[in-house]
Amino acid sequence: MSLCDDTLLCNFTKCRTKLSGFAWVTACSHVFCDQHGSGEFSRSPAICPACSSALSGKLDIVRTELSPSEEYKAMVLAGLRPDIVLDICTRALAFWSYQVKYFSLYMYSI
Ligand SMILES: [Zn+2]
Ligand SMILES: [Zn+2]
Repeated sequence: MSLCDDTLLCNFTKCRTKLSGFAWVTACSHVFCDQHGSGEFSRSPAICPACSSALSGKLDIVRTELSPSEEYKAMVLAGLRPDIVLDICTRALAFWSYQVKYFSLYMYSI
């Protein structure tokens, strides 16, 4: 299985649904479907349901569109220095490989 041919799954224990549309991403490297993200993170302080981390920072929880528009992709990193662009890409790829390694469908089919 390559890193790319997988879809992230909701990290909520009883859910594990394939994520599409919007997903809630946390600073502790977890990701949740729109239903569980909006439910769990509407209370304050927000606690990650996967690892119990307190998520109090402004960017500790981000609601992300998983298939962003061409316009968004064209603009979101424009203007940033190449080292910052690469830094962001590296972190996003690390998040993805962590998710695929620990939460992929494959883990649940063996
Ligand atoms: Zn869910
Ligand atoms: Zn977490």
